[in-house]
Amino acid sequence: MLLADKVCVVTGAASRRGIGRATAKLFALHGGRAIILDLDAEQAQAAASELGEAHRGIACDVTDKDACTAAIEQVVAEFGRIDVLVNNAGITQPLKLMDIGPRNYDAVLDVNLRGTLYMSQAAVPHMRKQRSGSIICMSSVSAQRGGGIFGGPHYSAAKAGALGLAKAMARELGPDNVRVNSITPGLIQTDITGDKLTDELKAEIIKGIPLSRLGNAEDIARACLFLASDLSSYITGATIDVNGGMLIH
Ligand code: NAD
Repeated sequence: MLLADKVCVVTGAASRRGIGRATAKLFALHGGRAIILDLDAEQAQAAASELGEAHRGIACDVTDKDACTAAIEQVVAEFGRIDVLVNNAGITQPLKLMDIGPRNYDAVLDVNLRGTLYMSQAAVPHMRKQRSGSIICMSSVSAQRGGGIFGGPHYSAAKAGALGLAKAMARELGPDNVRVNSITPGLIQTDITGDKLTDELKAEIIKGIPLSRLGNAEDIARACLFLASDLSSYITGATIDVNGGMLIH
C-alpha cells in the first residue's frame, strides 16, 4: 500500500476515460483516500462512490479561487489533512496561432495554469503546517516540443507555464518538505481529443512513437502514484516524460 491513509485530491477527475479518474482509482487501490474534484457535483460524487465509501466527490471549478479554497477546506474539515494534490484539470483547443482570440486564450490559460496556481495556493498552507505534501502538475509534451497534436499555441504556453510554476513552487516549498513535480504526457487516449483522433491519424502518430502505441490513462496514473508516494521522497522540481519516446531529449 504505497498511499496508506493519505488524503489525495485530484482535480478534473470525473471524466470516465480521463487521466484524473484513472489516477484517483489507482490511488484508492494503494490505500489512499481519493477526493475527486470536477465541474459537476453529481459526476464527481458518482465517480468517487464507484471507488468506495472512503472517497469523496466535490464540485470545484479550478478557475475560481474561492471555490478552490472552499473545496480544500471541506477536505481538511472532514479528514484533517491533505497529503497529495494532483493538478490535473485541463482543457485544450486545436487552434492555429492567428485563430486564438481573447476568449480562447483566457479559457485555456485559466484552467491549465491559473487553476494550478489557485489549487496549490489552497493546499499549501495545510501541507506547510503538516511539514509534508506532494503536488503533481499535469503539463504536456506540447509544452516541450511546441505543440502536441491537439493543442494550439495557447495550450503549449499554458502547459509550459505550468512547468515553470511547478519548478518555482518546488524551490519555495522544499524547506517545508513539500515536493512539487510535473508530468508531461504524450498522446493519451482520453476524451480530451474529442472525435478528432481518427484511425488514420492514430496510425500516422504511432509511426513517431518508439514504443509503438498511444498512451492510456493508466500509464499516467502510475507516474502520479510514484510522485505521490514516498518512492519519490528525494525528487522535487522534476519533470517526468510519459510519452512512449515520442520526445526524447
Ligand atoms: P479529460 O477531458 O478526459 O479530463 C479533463 C477533466 O477536467 C474533465 O473531467 C473536465 O470536466 C475537467 N475540467 C475542465 N475544466 C475544469 C475546471 N475549470 N475545473 C475543474 N475541472 C475541470 O482529459 P484528460 O486527457 O484526462 O486530461 C487530463 C490532463 O492531462 C489535462 O490537464 C490535459 O491537458 C493533460 N494532458 C492530456 C493529454 C492527452 O493526450 N490526453 C496529453 C498531455 C496532457
